[in-house]
Amino acid sequence: MNSLDQPKIGQPGNERINRVQAMELIKKSTIHDLGQMANNIRTSLYNNQTFFVYNQHLNFTNVCANACRFCAFSKRPEQEGAYTLSIDQIREAVISRLDEPVDEIHIVGGLNPELEYDYYLELLETVRGLRPRAGIKAFTAVEIAFLSDKYGFSHERVLSDFARAGLDALPGGGAEVFSPLLRQKLCPEKISGKRWLEIHQTAHILSIPTNCTLLFGHIETWEDRVEHLLALRELQDKTGGFLCFIPLPYQPGNNELGVRGPDGLDFVRMLAMSRIILDNIPHIKAYWAFSGIKAAQMGLWYGADDFDGTIVEEKIGHAAGADTPTGLTISQLEDYIRSAGFEPIRRNSLFQPVQPL
Ligand code: SF4
Repeated sequence: MNSLDQPKIGQPGNERINRVQAMELIKKSTIHDLGQMANNIRTSLYNNQTFFVYNQHLNFTNVCANACRFCAFSKRPEQEGAYTLSIDQIREAVISRLDEPVDEIHIVGGLNPELEYDYYLELLETVRGLRPRAGIKAFTAVEIAFLSDKYGFSHERVLSDFARAGLDALPGGGAEVFSPLLRQKLCPEKISGKRWLEIHQTAHILSIPTNCTLLFGHIETWEDRVEHLLALRELQDKTGGFLCFIPLPYQPGNNELGVRGPDGLDFVRMLAMSRIILDNIPHIKAYWAFSGIKAAQMGLWYGADDFDGTIVEEKIGHAAGADTPTGLTISQLEDYIRSAGFEPIRRNSLFQPVQPL
């Protein structure tokens, strides 16, 4: 089934929360009230099911032309620790786990000016050849825009070429926070929020489903968060192409921004408000690699229904000091979900259930 055919979980204009009501709710509600509301929605959609994926992360380069102030992952080419994987090294990384039943390969990297368009196509074809049945979720809208600008290709051309080479879905990264003022302070070289949304809209039109994110807990306000969520909801009304929303807690280590980052209460409050506002996006993820496992378990009671996956090996949050493991086994994931009070359901990258082999 094409994921874009999935039933919408909310209907536009149907007693949905607006901007003013959302701000009232966040100002006046206790954490318990918000949790109750979000959990009621989550339970009505999925009962006590919680989804997870057997996935592998591939970060093919950390060399980046941009210097986002919150990023601890990127390096200049001459900097110590800068790396770019050759196609052979990517092949080896995939082959090294071929004996595992990986259902999704998640591929993102920096904006490395040295890499040619053919490298991206070969990367996708190589992974697709080695993993014919796994979902390939690759390249943020920021990477798509970078290639589009470099080669003078339309977004549609890049996405279509990549889909033919094996791409199944786009990850949600690069959205950060859409406020132009904040983007100027946080990541002035990055594409605008408007262009991020346009690229996702193009992907949806081409039947490429995508995820979406918000980087929160730095210098933004609740007004900024609500505006961001409403912009995602508006696009989803038009296309229905978002599968999952992931609120990413800002990681405070090793970057220039130098602010503290959200605490556990802010994390679950953010999840709850996401579930309440995003009435048309099917899944909300508690991303354990960024939040910590205990907070992600709590998040399942505050509207989240997805726990992400095995990952192995997470590099981006860990470059910024995340003190979580860099990966988990299937049985660890299942245990964490069960001990939080939920039934683990293994899924693929389109959120369809997978039967274990
Ligand atoms: S967040 Fe992405 S675009 Fe920004 S510096 Fe890091 S790798 Fe580059």
